[in-house]
Amino acid sequence: MLKLKQIIPGKYCLSCEVCCRFIDKNAPLRPIFLTEEITPGIRPHIDKSSRVKLKPCERINACHFFNPKNNKCAIYLKRPFDCRLYPFAIMFDEKKERVVLGIDKKCPFAVDPTNHESIRNYFHYLVDLLEEKEIAYRIAENPLFISDFQDDITIFSSLDTLTKLIINNPEKNGFKRISLNDKPIFDTFFEKIEQPDSSCSFVNLYIWKDMNPVWWKQNGEALEILIETDSGYLDFNSLKKFPDYIYLTKDLAALMGNKYKHKRAGCNHFSKNYKFQHLPYSQNMKSECLKLFSKWAAERKKKFPDLYYHKLLKDSFSAHKLAIENYKTLGLIGHVIKIRGKICAYTFGFELRKDTFCILLEVCDLRFKGIAEFIFREFSKEMLRYRYVNAMDDSGLENLRIAKLSYHPIPNNLTL
Ligand code: SF4
Ligand code: SF4
Repeated sequence: MLKLKQIIPGKYCLSCEVCCRFIDKNAPLRPIFLTEEITPGIRPHIDKSSRVKLKPCERINACHFFNPKNNKCAIYLKRPFDCRLYPFAIMFDEKKERVVLGIDKKCPFAVDPTNHESIRNYFHYLVDLLEEKEIAYRIAENPLFISDFQDDITIFSSLDTLTKLIINNPEKNGFKRISLNDKPIFDTFFEKIEQPDSSCSFVNLYIWKDMNPVWWKQNGEALEILIETDSGYLDFNSLKKFPDYIYLTKDLAALMGNKYKHKRAGCNHFSKNYKFQHLPYSQNMKSECLKLFSKWAAERKKKFPDLYYHKLLKDSFSAHKLAIENYKTLGLIGHVIKIRGKICAYTFGFELRKDTFCILLEVCDLRFKGIAEFIFREFSKEMLRYRYVNAMDDSGLENLRIAKLSYHPIPNNLTL
């Protein structure tokens, strides 16, 4: 059930006759129940559009759950979100271009000037709540919840997430959400791109889909791809991309010369000081890898204060989970390192094109000195059949830039 702080003191409602009663017995704005609120006890008392049925009450009509004797709701603690929200209301604007939040001027609390400041504060609270993706999705599953424009509702703000989900919903224009079954279609499309960067891959679109849902449709030979972001749906081709870091695989596998001496020292330290196993990933290692991710992410957060990086780490959990869970279908190759039988590092990658292997994920328990250098070198050794290793971009983050530069990438255009 969607929780909502309540703002109106009981003294207003108990002496008021606006709520729960309707003149028209088929009033279109009878309270509506969200799908998740329809319990077996509620079902007989709502109609096909999930609106509550009315009963005759003192020459007008009242909600089935209204008790005219004490002016109270029989399901008060379980009343629908629609009733909890009132006198605030979510509706379309006049041109049906936006979903907006407003307050009903019929409510005596709403028009009492002594309440205006608390109403304004409550509006801010409500907008923040309703813009939360999870909550907006739950409401958007019930499009009838959004009422038509009413001129006795004073509009306070647009609700961008609901506008995006309900009005600009790409489904209406023939787009569908990406799914694992779509991989062959995307692979064929990306194969035709001459110089694909790491973003031109089904894997990358799919594993980040919880953060940025991906929508697509076929347009002749081409695919139209939309990425859902907080600021709307963006065309995949118009996305600002950071350049990838590309290396010669033989350099990473050998770590020869002065420029790699620190990396070599890290590998040597690791192989001399720890008793380890370097193994191909198998599905029974999933939960241990995800546990390692959580531990690693907590350490990274402590070390790097950048808030954008913290958000990236939070979103990365579902990306790693999707990648690891579906590694076979996604065509990923994974390796782990175990120390004393416990997974202390994992890495996954995939063939980006015939001459390039892309390293997608790498997570290590950094208490083991040299483990990151070691797993990267060993994975590169296994990929010597590819001329290049692509370690993806740095998302504009300084710590990633430093780490990726430390392996001496080749200029990006040399792979042309
Ligand atoms: S109209 Fe306002 S004051 Fe009256 S019962 Fe409804 S919420 Fe309470
Ligand atoms: S469910 Fe309760 S609060 Fe909502 S309209 Fe009916 S009686 Fe009123």
